[in-house]
Amino acid sequence: METSTKIILAAGTTALVIGGIVIYKKRHEIFDTVKMITTKNYFTIKEMIASDTAKKLGIDNTPSEDVKANLQSLITNVLNPAREIYGKPITVSSGYRCPALNAALKGAKTSQHQTGQAADLVPANSKGSLAEIFAACAAVGNYDQLIVEQNAAGNKWVHVSYDPTKNRRQLMSYVSNRNPQYINITVDQAKQFLA
Ligand SMILES: [Zn+2]
Repeated sequence: METSTKIILAAGTTALVIGGIVIYKKRHEIFDTVKMITTKNYFTIKEMIASDTAKKLGIDNTPSEDVKANLQSLITNVLNPAREIYGKPITVSSGYRCPALNAALKGAKTSQHQTGQAADLVPANSKGSLAEIFAACAAVGNYDQLIVEQNAAGNKWVHVSYDPTKNRRQLMSYVSNRNPQYINITVDQAKQFLA
């Protein structure tokens, strides 16, 4: 079910509405701080905390109020506008991970999934495109890290994070092979990797 969210613009902010997407820009800010916000809501906290692994292992993945606020911030600032640009359904394959769940999934110790600031995205059906999801997140612009990831089994997904205090706009790839490492990439390289 889609719901509308009210957009409250700070004083000194100009807004432009294009095809249901509100683009706003604070005065005196440079171009790369332009944010895109949509009035449509495509994601729920419930789907951001759901985990088959947690269920299977009996891990309680209930988020704190702070984590919930971070998840909502990620939804509002990155996921909803990316979904709007992409135009097709997206599945969150992993959102919030409490420390026990993150350890069970062998996630990085500093993973932003543990604070509700990151989500892994895949197309919801075979008509979708991982490369297009990546491009949509990149177009939204105000992410912290946008990473194309691949596990040992060859499965790929898009990891995106949002941190209101430090959106570094890092574009990277991570392949879980014999020598796993994060490599800086361009949007075009990511699209090739995901094609
Ligand atoms: Zn991730």
